[in-house]
Amino acid sequence: MTNNNRLTTSWGAPVGDNQNSITAGSRGPTLIQDVHLLEKLAHFNRERVPERVVHAKGAGAHGYFEVTNDVSDYTKADFLSEVGKRTPLFVRFSTVAGENGSADTVRDPRGFAVKFYTEDGNYDLVGNNTPVFFIRDAIKFPDFIHTQKRDPKTHLKNPTAVWDFWSLSPESLHQVTILMSDRGIPATLRHMHGFGSHTFKWVNKEGEGVWIKYHFKTEQGVANLAPDAAAKMAGENPDYHTEDLFNAIEQGEFPAWKLYVQIMPLEDANTYRFDPFDVTKVWSQKDYPLIEVGRMVLDRNPENYFAEVEQATFSPGTLVPGIDVSPDKMLQGRLFAYSDAHRYRVGANHQALPINRPRNEVKNYQRDGQMRFDNNGGGSVYYEPNSFGGPQESPEHKQAAYPVYGVADSVANDHNDHYTQAGDLYRLLTEEERSRLVTNIVESMKPVEKEEIKLRQIQHFFKADPEYGRKVAEGLGLPLPQEAR
Ligand code: NDP
Repeated sequence: MTNNNRLTTSWGAPVGDNQNSITAGSRGPTLIQDVHLLEKLAHFNRERVPERVVHAKGAGAHGYFEVTNDVSDYTKADFLSEVGKRTPLFVRFSTVAGENGSADTVRDPRGFAVKFYTEDGNYDLVGNNTPVFFIRDAIKFPDFIHTQKRDPKTHLKNPTAVWDFWSLSPESLHQVTILMSDRGIPATLRHMHGFGSHTFKWVNKEGEGVWIKYHFKTEQGVANLAPDAAAKMAGENPDYHTEDLFNAIEQGEFPAWKLYVQIMPLEDANTYRFDPFDVTKVWSQKDYPLIEVGRMVLDRNPENYFAEVEQATFSPGTLVPGIDVSPDKMLQGRLFAYSDAHRYRVGANHQALPINRPRNEVKNYQRDGQMRFDNNGGGSVYYEPNSFGGPQESPEHKQAAYPVYGVADSVANDHNDHYTQAGDLYRLLTEEERSRLVTNIVESMKPVEKEEIKLRQIQHFFKADPEYGRKVAEGLGLPLPQEAR
């Protein structure tokens, strides 16, 4: 009789002994003919896929999205087509700079990536817990991230590099202010908002477009960790956020977020007082108020971390009809970089893995590639155009036409007010919040090796708000730079 609980090799044969390798005599040496041993050791060596260069440490959960408001005038996206419609989804939260085993409770933006398994294909909303970003042109991304990672000589984090880059890239000031504020260390992954950050375009059934920005507002309320508590937690339980999310869901306390959009008529983009495609800026909610869309609930933990969280691949280019991109230069770079990272990390067929594959049927002419584990299209027609009834394009789902003008050149963005919105945020904070913001900045800047870097950065704070610059200068025991005075 066959024992249906028997241990097998990866080729399915029963294993005779999983405790003792085959040796010449009881003391060895080990014989190379022990193919079970060889396979076991060789597979173990290959257990890791390359970790993500950014967003390596993550936690994920399954859930659903339910439409609570009719937005069909603005988008034909099927999953948003009617109130009450539910779509399954998977979310991955992450820190940005740390490695896969690094502490959760560090001061860092948090990735907030959502994969909606819609009936029209997958839609990935790959954002952060901040509405803006440090830079606005993808060409600066590798340099920026180098400053956030380890110094190539010391293999230590390098505050001089961090502040040198920021001080020479003043477009970072708004995000730096958010990062250094109380919200830079969320209490848990459940207690933070999420943002699409970039501007996207929604297109309705008539082909009319609007620019939009996404906001996920936490129903748990915003809560943050004080730096001392966070540092203590990083030592005692570096996986604190991961554990908190898992336990909350396990105990039936399902975290939820309301999704809102800001909607901007296309023509406003030409006259708005900021470049609405600049990801270092927000659109004031006084100009474009939040409009409710639906509710996201996370109600199921992954069964297997590697299969679901580590192999989950998100890209802002994973779009469905009714949702399109904007000219945002950072977004345009991400359209390439994210999918490329996954092709490298997980493989050319990463989208066929169970966690990534759409719930609707994929029909196209892509074939082969490493680890093609489905039937690879079987005997169906494998080129187009063809006379054999292969799948065909749907012209009604062509991207909406969009006029562009300009001279092809590498030119800086023409909106260079990096100060007003950072200052607006500073002025929005209470006195206690401002004081904690300044303390966090001062503590972070103290180890910076060159005074010139500190003075340059103080000037930026001063331009955002004179009090802001003055207080950071005081905290660092430095005079206000000449220009600021
Ligand atoms: P509003 O007063 O209409 O909005 C202020 C926003 O700031 C709210 O979304 C609020 O979120 C958020 N906020 C409050 N405290 C903090 C904090 N410590 N860190 C980050 N965000 C915080 O003003 P405006 O829309 O005119 O924006 C003013 C400033 O608010 C901006 O310059 C920007 O820095 C910041 N902000 C703006 C957002 C936007 O989309 N317009 C989004 C987030 C921040 P909450 O309701 O959760 O407290």
